[in-house]
Amino acid sequence: MRFPGNKKAGLIIMVDAEGEFGRIPFSPRDKFSKRVKMLLSAILGMDYSIKTLNEMVVLLKKYNIPATFFFVGSLFLKKGDKKILTGYLNQDIKTRYLWNKRRLPKIIPSFGGFIQNEMNSRLFEVSIHNFLHESNFSEPDSIISNSIRFSRIAAKRIGFDPKTYAAPWFELEEPKRPDRIYNILKNNGIILTRFDGTREKYGTVITQRTKKGFFKRRGFNCIHSSYFIKTGIRNRKELEIIENGIKDAIKTGTIYTLSTHETTFMRHGLNHFEDILKIIKKYQKDLYMNTLYGMFLKVGK
Ligand SMILES: [Zn+2]
Repeated sequence: MRFPGNKKAGLIIMVDAEGEFGRIPFSPRDKFSKRVKMLLSAILGMDYSIKTLNEMVVLLKKYNIPATFFFVGSLFLKKGDKKILTGYLNQDIKTRYLWNKRRLPKIIPSFGGFIQNEMNSRLFEVSIHNFLHESNFSEPDSIISNSIRFSRIAAKRIGFDPKTYAAPWFELEEPKRPDRIYNILKNNGIILTRFDGTREKYGTVITQRTKKGFFKRRGFNCIHSSYFIKTGIRNRKELEIIENGIKDAIKTGTIYTLSTHETTFMRHGLNHFEDILKIIKKYQKDLYMNTLYGMFLKVGK
């Protein structure tokens, strides 16, 4: 692939930004043990607030490295906008963790002001991860369609126009109806999605993927997630894997995409994230860094 500025490879950082959704959602297909863990963290009241997102944004600005944030769309809503959420919740939503719908408007924090003030920068792309982290495979088309539509409406209210997407729990291709979510995305103004593999069997975590460029899948633009950072603990071995991934992308002229959650770094702080940014910085001579959509515009078509 050809990258601007004679760079040899591309790099995209992708962050699922979920706020409190990091502790309340279960996929209906999650294991029981996972549900217990999530419940415990909810009871213990761990801090899944805006604090970690803020620290991440500060670091990315410090190192001047772009990133794409897939937000749960309801987080875009400003404090006075919760009516949109209440209206949305009146639908018949099946995703299991939404059992306590009455409490949700109180639990869901408002990131809108922060995003508007701190993330309105060429370094950041604001993208969509459903409105309430709904399970794509549990909900009918109408709910998923509304989920994306409402996310875009909420984003527009704070001055953003998302064109990209990442599916919660990697639920993008339902084995029996693989085209379904792609069609819904198409109909709602989304043009590109992160692709995390097909999930015939849920629970297999993808850590290492072929590093390629953008590709079409069932008529839709996709990009692989090359590596997923799952814990925020400082980890030399993981740094090595990431560094090797970058080197490999430089050698093969491809795009390395690094995925994570903002809540991953909430318990142990941002040291591990900063270590990763330093590694990336080391290769900046050869790396063309951009957001997901920005990269797509430059080298995707
Ligand atoms: Zn998610």
